[in-house]
Amino acid sequence: MGERAITVGEATAAPGQIARGRIRVAVGTAATVEMPVVVINGSRPGPTLCVTGGVHGGEYPAIEAAIRLSRSLKPEAVHGTVIIVPIVSVPAFQRRAIYVNPMDGVNINRVFPGNPAGTITEVMAATLFREAVAQSDAYIDLHGGDLVEALVPFTIYYQSGNATVDETSRKMAEVYGIKYIVRSMAIRGGSYQAAAAMGKPAILTESGGQGILDEPSVQIHVRGVTNVLKHLGILRGTPEVGEQPVHFPQSSWLAAEQGGLFYPAVSVGQRVEKGQVVGEFRDWFGDSIARVESPAAGIVLFLVTSPAINKGDPILSVGVSG
Ligand SMILES: [Zn+2]
Repeated sequence: MGERAITVGEATAAPGQIARGRIRVAVGTAATVEMPVVVINGSRPGPTLCVTGGVHGGEYPAIEAAIRLSRSLKPEAVHGTVIIVPIVSVPAFQRRAIYVNPMDGVNINRVFPGNPAGTITEVMAATLFREAVAQSDAYIDLHGGDLVEALVPFTIYYQSGNATVDETSRKMAEVYGIKYIVRSMAIRGGSYQAAAAMGKPAILTESGGQGILDEPSVQIHVRGVTNVLKHLGILRGTPEVGEQPVHFPQSSWLAAEQGGLFYPAVSVGQRVEKGQVVGEFRDWFGDSIARVESPAAGIVLFLVTSPAINKGDPILSVGVSG
């Protein structure tokens, strides 16, 4: 917008101003979470982009990129508004929790758009959507491999069935500049899925992993968000896009059929065939108890690198080519 004051949580920015504040979430009197938010309200009119990091609290390059963007974007250069929430799942960040909010054991990226009458994580999701996503024209959710995950960078968008929204989401994915792009067809509470279902073009972008804050992974996110800002006309200039993207019309997730110690036999970015052995489970004495086969032919996008696997845990996903 950039034509009127924008309020997100407790941060209000007039046109041409930056405001920092908190989005407070409370359930009863005991459970309270405060998410940081930065509103960069441009000096000139234009669309509003929402950017979130730390939806999973251990994905550090995503969090760092969101913080850097919140500090480097200047209202004088912004045509419209940028709303940045650098760390959504503050309790998971503080406790170094994997996947879930330790307050209720819920993975927030399975419950969007949330439930204002639900548990603390569902209320966090609902509050983030009400305050930040609902007043935006487009949404980027920055992720990476969690503390126990390696991955090759990739971008996901949801095919909602609304052709205009889906085309913009796909275009945002392409200009982000990451080679691998996955289309998601099945809705399962993901941030980008819920936003697209509301009519907001959205992407979820993955870079970095295993709890490492590395500069190349941060740069992929900073460059990607900057490219989308240029594509949407919020910043002036042309997106810097490198190699031709590779589109996967779907991805196939593999969940563990039993617990034990997992020993992967493949690496992220590697091509696998359907039925190829991708790893092995051993028991606590080291005896082999099961071999794991790839569910599809394609590229290994992420891989859980902790040997400690429980039944039902994700192990890997494959970007499926055809
Ligand atoms: Zn994540």
